[in-house]
This record gives sequence, C-alpha cells and structure tokens, in this order.
Amino acid sequence: MNGCRDIIVVGAGQAGFQAAASLREAGFDGLLTIVGDEPVAPYQRPPLSKAYLAGKATAGTLALRPASFYADHRITLRLGERAALIDRPIQQLELKSGERLGYDHLILATGARNRSLPVPGADLAGVLQLRTLADAEDVQRYLAGVESVVVVGAGFIGLEFASVAAARGIAVTVVEFADRVMSRAVSRPTSAFFRDAHEAAGIRFAFGVGVGRITGADGHVTAVETTDGRAFAADLVLVGIGVVPNVELAAEAGLTVADGILVDQALLTSDPSISAIGDCATFPNSFAGNAPTRIESVQNAVDQARCVAARLAGRAAFYAALPWFWSDQGGWKLQIAGLANPHDLTVTRGDPAQGAFSIFCYRHDRLVGVESVNRPADHMIARRLIAERLPLVPDQAADLALDLRALIRTAAAA
Ligand code: FAD
Ligand code: ADP
Repeated sequence: MNGCRDIIVVGAGQAGFQAAASLREAGFDGLLTIVGDEPVAPYQRPPLSKAYLAGKATAGTLALRPASFYADHRITLRLGERAALIDRPIQQLELKSGERLGYDHLILATGARNRSLPVPGADLAGVLQLRTLADAEDVQRYLAGVESVVVVGAGFIGLEFASVAAARGIAVTVVEFADRVMSRAVSRPTSAFFRDAHEAAGIRFAFGVGVGRITGADGHVTAVETTDGRAFAADLVLVGIGVVPNVELAAEAGLTVADGILVDQALLTSDPSISAIGDCATFPNSFAGNAPTRIESVQNAVDQARCVAARLAGRAAFYAALPWFWSDQGGWKLQIAGLANPHDLTVTRGDPAQGAFSIFCYRHDRLVGVESVNRPADHMIARRLIAERLPLVPDQAADLALDLRALIRTAAAA
C-alpha cells in the first residue's frame, strides 16, 4: 500500500474518524493512530445545535462509533492529546507532552474553531459559543432558567440555536452584520423565507449592525449593545459568527496555507507525505471553476477522507465530489446541493407559502445550486443534475408538472 506502514491522523473529528475507518475498509493493515485534543472519541457535531439542545440526543448517541470499533479495527485513539509540531525532515509528529510518533503518511484533519467576538464584555459568564460537545454541555446548562437570549450572527449555527431557544419559550434576538440571514450560503428568496419563518416563531432580528459591547452585572452578561446604540437584554449570548481553520500546525511546519491548508486535487499538501482534509483544507473545487475553496460540511469531511484513504490504498483519485449541506431550523429542513453563490438567476419550484419549495440558482445559464425546503426529493434530484451537469432550463425547473426524475433518466441515457 504505497509503502505506508504507519499512518497518523491529526484531529479526531468527522474527517479524522472517516479517514481511519476508510483506510481499514480499504485494507490498510499498518499502524493507524488518531491524535485528538478533545477528551472524547469522535462524535457528530451537527446535532449539537439541533437534537442535542432540544433534548432529543445525548452525548452517548452522538458518538460516530462505539469504543469497541477502534479496538476491533486496531485504530489507536490518543485522545486529550495535542499535536504540537511536525518534524518533516524525519517524518515525526511531536505531541504537546514531548512524545514523538513517527509516520510514513500524516493526515491533517484539524478542523476549525469558532471565530471570537472582539468586543468589551465578550469574556462575561453567559457569553458562549458552540463547536464542541463541551460547548454544547455549557449551553445546555445555561439555557435552563434563561429568559432572554441574544444570538450574534444569523448563519446556520446561530439560526439553529435561535429556533431551539425560541421553541423553549425564550425571547430571542438575532444580531447580524448583513441585511439578511445566511447570506454567505443561500439565495435571497431562501433568506427571505427563513426570516419570515423565524419571525413568525417570535424571533426578532437586528440586521445591518454589529455588537458594540456586552454589559453585565456580577460578572454575568445582562445585555448586548449594538453598534447603532440599541441595547437588548440577554441572560445568555450565543456567538455564531463563523469559524477560522486550524492551520497553525501546518503553517509552522512550512506547509503552504491559503485560508486553509492548501492541497492539490489529490488532497496532498505541499509535502507529498502529508494530506489535509475537511474544514481545515483549501482545495481546487471543480464546482467553483477549480478556485481554491474551503468547505465546512459533513459531506466534505467524509468524502475527502474517503478520497485520501483510496489514494493511500493505491487507487489514485482526484477529489471531485459535489458539495451538499443541510440545516434544520424549527420545522424546516433546508438542503443545499452545489455551491449556489454567486448566481444571477433564481427560479422557484413549489410554493414557499405552503412551506415546501426549492430555489434553483443559475450562473450564466448553468444550474449551480439548488436550495430545497421540506422537498427532499428535489434535493436528491438536484444532486444528480449538478454533479452530472445534466441540462435543465429555468422554465423546466419551475414546471411542477414536469417529472424531474424522468427527465434525469432520459438525459443520463442520451
Ligand atoms: P472537526 O469536526 O472540527 O474536527 C477537528 C478535530 O481536530 C477537533 O476535535 C479539534 O479539536 C482537533 N484538533 C485541532 N487541532 C489539533 C491538534 N493540533 N492536535 C490534536 N487535535 C487537534 N455540517 C453539515 O454538513 N450539516 C450540519 O447541519 C452541520 N451542523 C453543524 C452544527 C454545529 C454546532 C457545528 C459546530 C458544525 C456543524 N456542521 C454541519 C459542520 C460540520 O460539523 C463540520 O464541517 C465537520 O465537523 C468538519 O469535520 P472536521 O473533521 O474537518 O473538523
Ligand atoms: P456558521 O455557518 O458557522 O453559522 P456563517 O459564516 O455562515 O457561520 O455565519 C456567520 C454570520 O455571522 C454571517 O452571516 C456574518 O455576517 C455574521 N457576523 C460575523 N461577525 C459578526 C458580528 N460581529 N456581528 C454580527 N454578525 C456577524
């Protein structure tokens, strides 16, 4: 298997776990170690802002595999240990403890961390973020007994949290720089739908403003002051203003970093003995004209891990998977296929007023992304349409009488 006897994965998250599991599936028989700085075995993050906070999942149900899986597959988990340095000339990884581990191939799956809010008062008790299980446990603990919450950032995590809090009867205000929700990822019609849906659930928005400072009493947060001089009462502030990739380990080892750790189409870094995958990696994305792209999603983490495992198993592969994503907010299931932004035309299929529709996004007459709300069949069809670059003109997308599944069958057969 490419002469590799000893593979180390740094990061025990979604991508790191998948890389190890897929390597064993592919028949890799050598030593396999995952080094992770969190104290728990790999778990799913998406439910942290959804089912876990809603009380429908526990730490136990979030685990990606039971503990026995790692022993059964001879995967050594080094949990609660931080990789501190890569000694590339002699192919060794140094842990924070000073211990050194040799590798034939190193897979960096270090993920991302929450961007912090640089304003006075951000260190008050009750100002929280949501990335890890430990964060979610903190948020869960604080939520009991809270009357009002301010969410900073109307991205996926902010809105998912806001809808869980509102469903618990808590007064929620969302403060957002942009003029609409989820502006980074979705089209204006989808933003408008979710704004209306959240407002109907009692959530209040302050758009076009940032946070000036956070005030408190006895060390605990009491209010958020926005940059336009308003003040919103808050017993809890959830900061969800995006993430920054964990690239320091790579950068200090002299690997090329451009936002994330820069990799080629095979997901190799500038050192052929080191790959990078998941939230920490910037790769040439064939669905963005091969522009360097970093994607934060489970799909991307899993598919990149599989791609690297296949390469290390001797099946050379370029990474070309279609990006897709989901978010659950209140009763609405948003599913996104492709990279919708930027686009110059949107077409609606279905009826937003009925709460089930898809927005087809076109760039220069080409379908680049589809956002589906409570229309899972559209999402699955959209994945094929975009991945296989099958033709669908805007009039066809809007025509509910047209059977898209049949159209795909015909187009694929042509
Ligand atoms: P991570 O899961 O972040 O794992 C990286 C791990 O590496 C972490 O444990 C980190 O602590 C560790 N690490 C970093 N540096 C070191 C070091 N030097 N030494 C040792 N360990 C290190 N995606 C979706 O597609 N759909 C969703 O609905 C969705 N919801 C989400 C909800 C929440 C609350 C969050 C936080 C994320 C959500 N995501 C969702 C995003 C998705 O979870 C991430 O894209 C995915 O987890 C990325 O996996 P990863 O392995 O690249 O990074
Ligand atoms: P995530 O997917 O992690 O929730 P996003 O990047 O999608 O993150 O969303 C973060 C949102 O936070 C963006 O809409 C961005 O405009 C907003 N934002 C960033 N910084 C601030 C800030 N200081 N005040 C208000 N909103 C902010």
